[in-house]
Amino acid sequence: MALGKWEHSTGPPGKRLPGCGWHRDEKKLDIAPRGDDENGDNVMILHVDMDAFYASVEERDQPTLRGQPVIVGGSAEKRGVVAAANYVVRSFGVHSAMPTSTALKLCPHAVLMPVRMSHYAEISRSLHEIFFRYTPLVEPLALDEAFLDVSGSGRLFGSPEKMAREVKKAIHDELGLVASVGVAPNKFLAKLASDLEKPDGLVVIARENVQEVLDPLPVGRIWGVGKATGKTFERLGIHTIGELRECSPGDLESRFGKMGDQIWSLAHGIDTRPVIPDREAKSISNETTFATDIEDMEILESWLMELTEQVSRRLRRSGMRARTVQIKVRYDDFDTFTRSISLSDPTTSTQEIWRSAATMLKERLPERPLCIRLLGVGVSNLQQQGSVQGELFDDPDQESRLDEVTDEIEDRFGRGAVNRASSTMRTTNRKPEPGSENFGNPDG
Ligand SMILES: [Mg+2]
Repeated sequence: MALGKWEHSTGPPGKRLPGCGWHRDEKKLDIAPRGDDENGDNVMILHVDMDAFYASVEERDQPTLRGQPVIVGGSAEKRGVVAAANYVVRSFGVHSAMPTSTALKLCPHAVLMPVRMSHYAEISRSLHEIFFRYTPLVEPLALDEAFLDVSGSGRLFGSPEKMAREVKKAIHDELGLVASVGVAPNKFLAKLASDLEKPDGLVVIARENVQEVLDPLPVGRIWGVGKATGKTFERLGIHTIGELRECSPGDLESRFGKMGDQIWSLAHGIDTRPVIPDREAKSISNETTFATDIEDMEILESWLMELTEQVSRRLRRSGMRARTVQIKVRYDDFDTFTRSISLSDPTTSTQEIWRSAATMLKERLPERPLCIRLLGVGVSNLQQQGSVQGELFDDPDQESRLDEVTDEIEDRFGRGAVNRASSTMRTTNRKPEPGSENFGNPDG
């Protein structure tokens, strides 16, 4: 489950950073502030997730592809991977992040389409416009996936279920695409719900039905229960969330440490993490899990560049600057390392974040064979742009001007419209095409 992304540190709901307005339409949307009920009794969250996003976009744009097995990804000759697989090709066992060569062995007559990231990014922007009609509290998880806190939107738009239907309809009518939506009292359940009836799903988990829905599901549905934890449960004869719920918090804690507490809460449908728009986040990060572990530093570096661009772009859009840059690396044996660098001055510059991230990747990992399962980049220690003393009077440096211009052009013409001269990774070294969680589960 992709919920295991880096968690944003969470502040108390309802508290906003001083001077931080809503994203847009703040005057038009008369939304009750979040956190108006202390117990979270009225919180309702939508999780919207596009179905087989990149592949569906290609099918939409080229109707002759409909009904055919479609893979969006890099070429087999260049060690490409599957970025997205439509539902037809999935029946052959093809899934995202699989090497394209393997996918084509499973389904030799599949149509392979190249990844058009800037095109998907543009559609993603239209998608966000739809979300923002209903609430300013939109937390993007990926290009094709977001949480919407609609707790305060009921007076204007009706029930959360009605909003979910309208969002799905708008996506269908305006973008010609299909989304699955989960509606639930918290993030964990909303994300779970959106996945239950994919594709074209709409699942509402009402407060009173939480256990009824959760109990029959396998324990692996709980965020944080991965392969290793799953095996432990298997040994204990615990297969479903219902069976897991019989365990006391103490049992789980003695077996799984701090994680046990979280597992217990989620098994009981409890998740207090608020929806945090980038504008209010304490940290911004993207990470990706590779289907095949990566042993090649150059390939890893090009992924790092892609993640860095995503994160720094989100950072600039949020109106914040970052003082700390982190990377996260998980090896094939699940050993996970995070490294961070504090900058002397807070930044929004892609190049500056990249320099720190690349230094950590190349110089600060433990001495052991490179075999990487997951890679992440994050920024934290955020402060509002303009709060740096003297900054208003200083000329922005060349790099940040370059970023601004790049963002502006890419907002108009799509990502990738500008080829950063300094982005040597791109020109010297094609990476496997992205097909990862940080771009969403474009597959899901
Ligand atoms: Mg998806």
